[in-house]
Amino acid sequence: MELSKEILSKAEGYRASISKFLRDIIALPSQSSGEEAVIKRIAQEMEHVGFDKVEIDPMGNVLGYVGNGSKLIAMDAHIDTVDIGDPSLWKFDPYKGYEDEKVIGGRGASDQKGGMASMVYGAKIMKELGLLGDCTVLITGTVQEEDCDGLCWQYIIEEDKIRPEFVLLTEPTSCKVHRGQRGRMEIKVTTKGVSCHGSAPERGDNAIYKMAPIILELRALHENLAYDEFLGKGSLTVSEIFFTSPSRCAVADSCTISIDRRLTHGETWQEALAQVRRLPAVKASGAEVSLYSYSRPSWKGLVYPTDCYFPTWVVEEDHPACRTVVESYKKLFGEDPIVDKWTFSTNGVSIMGRYGIPCVGFGPGHEDQAHAPNEITWKDELVKAAAVYAAVPYVYSNLKS
Ligand SMILES: [Zn+2]
Repeated sequence: MELSKEILSKAEGYRASISKFLRDIIALPSQSSGEEAVIKRIAQEMEHVGFDKVEIDPMGNVLGYVGNGSKLIAMDAHIDTVDIGDPSLWKFDPYKGYEDEKVIGGRGASDQKGGMASMVYGAKIMKELGLLGDCTVLITGTVQEEDCDGLCWQYIIEEDKIRPEFVLLTEPTSCKVHRGQRGRMEIKVTTKGVSCHGSAPERGDNAIYKMAPIILELRALHENLAYDEFLGKGSLTVSEIFFTSPSRCAVADSCTISIDRRLTHGETWQEALAQVRRLPAVKASGAEVSLYSYSRPSWKGLVYPTDCYFPTWVVEEDHPACRTVVESYKKLFGEDPIVDKWTFSTNGVSIMGRYGIPCVGFGPGHEDQAHAPNEITWKDELVKAAAVYAAVPYVYSNLKS
């Protein structure tokens, strides 16, 4: 049988196993820092399908290997999920989930336990059909992405000392090929004042009043941010506001806002901070402008502090990583895939954004399902993705330069 037909028929043959495994991991709630049960279930499935090596690293990421070639390719799924939100918006139990002929529902179905399920069976097919060539394929189930995208891979690269030739991200793309995303930063602006009795405000210095013109200038700044043909416009919004005041009958002595800043191609974090620092109202009030940092312990208790800066990344269409996934798709389905970008953020922010290791995306499920109630994914896409993953090491090994 022709190789692509063989891969497709194997993937189709695992439709029920992929579905069952996905239902099992949806049933294990795994919000950021609470992933222990799901990590162990994934490790068990990896061993069950015949991975060559399965480890859980000190942060709590599961790392499963197939093959022993000299070229290391990684495929990644974060396996934490966000909370379920308002339970009354769900038509079914988000963890018991449900399925019919076409779809599987539950928290994480699209974002992105589906990618995990497809990868494990994609790797099984690589082994069974001898598609590994001179490659070793590392399948990662990573933690804390929803809280701090990319932190898991900062750990894998810096501490586990793993550096793949490229990483295939399996976040939902509706089975398109994604080759970039805008970066982001979490910025904090604080104004300071002096409190006094609210009955005589002239004795004090109101920190909330100092913040008011800053907020208006930020809204105007958003309109003027850079634009990129592929990734679109940089953006910002004020996402939170906090204050301190001795009482409801007092002048507020501090005010802090959070800014969700999205960076398009070419924008740097230094310049994004400088733009805020240059605002007339920021200068006039002496407001402090800084980056948030993240230091929540992982489920293993490991603390790995980082700045809340998540760099933009774009891989060129003719890069071998992108060509490998495009060629794999063509080989299997006889047509060109759509090549596009993500609106949301992924672990690519550290892998490619910080470390320059090329990333490319291909995943089952749809981006608009992410973080939404009644989240579902599609069985046909799970099977398609498993087939593409299986073909990747073979296509990469035979790629013409
Ligand atoms: Zn995700």
